[in-house]
Amino acid sequence: MKKQSDFSSLPDYHIHTILCKHAKGKIADYRTAAKKNGITEICFSDHCPNPDGYDPDHRMEMKKFETYRDMVSRLQDGKPPTVLFGIEADYYEGCEVFLREWLAAQQFDFVLGSIHYIEDWGFDNPSQRHVWDSVDVKETWRKYFKLVGMLADSRLFDAVGHLDLPKKFGFRPSDTDLKGMARPALDRIAGADMGVELNTSGLRRPVGEIYPSPLIVSMAREREIPICFGSDAHAPDEIGAGFGLALNLAREAGYTQYFRIRGRTKELVALPETLSV
Ligand code: ZN
Ligand code: FE
Ligand code: FE
Ligand code: ZN
Repeated sequence: MKKQSDFSSLPDYHIHTILCKHAKGKIADYRTAAKKNGITEICFSDHCPNPDGYDPDHRMEMKKFETYRDMVSRLQDGKPPTVLFGIEADYYEGCEVFLREWLAAQQFDFVLGSIHYIEDWGFDNPSQRHVWDSVDVKETWRKYFKLVGMLADSRLFDAVGHLDLPKKFGFRPSDTDLKGMARPALDRIAGADMGVELNTSGLRRPVGEIYPSPLIVSMAREREIPICFGSDAHAPDEIGAGFGLALNLAREAGYTQYFRIRGRTKELVALPETLSV
């Protein structure tokens, strides 16, 4: 990985499309919005199709995958902003059976690994928020970080998406407990040469902060885990949202670089001093 500093904005590596059934706007409008915000590189990373019946309501259908590939490739016309082809794939126990071969066959630029379920509970789904009222919060986070460790060990993904997503509705463990649970997960992320995404969608959720928290970003920095930035846009006007705050978060944790990716190979780039957006 080499260093360069020709970049004055931060790429947005987490963008959805209407194919996942809960995003809106035309794909071209996402790119237009990026251009308007001075973002010179974007990566579509829509919810991965899954043939095994996993969470079919929140992802594209397998038969739409080639449509997705075509929609993205039509935007790859050599003009700025640069458009990358990625996917947000869920980690769950047993996902390897499908993902191992399928991901490798698609020639993605970027594969983001996310966890949205603990057992059968969609813990970040507003329609299942009430479940939080009856579970042990610390135990829930412990289960979550155990899955993060397994995600890392699978070696299927380039980075972890929204690493502390269980905080979405404000249910969180103490810092001491969090440190103890996050430490082994981050060790395994570092051991897998994976990155961590600074995901600004948390700013638009009840918790009102970026995923992951400053504490976890500092722990990632200690392990020299590379970072990237994602808005998790489900609408064009969310592209690049909160990136100024994400840049501050990275710098405050001691980061001076972030990664760009092509064909699943990362390259470290100097962080900009400030952002115009
Ligand atoms: Zn989504
Ligand atoms: Fe996600
Ligand atoms: Fe997402
Ligand atoms: Zn997401």
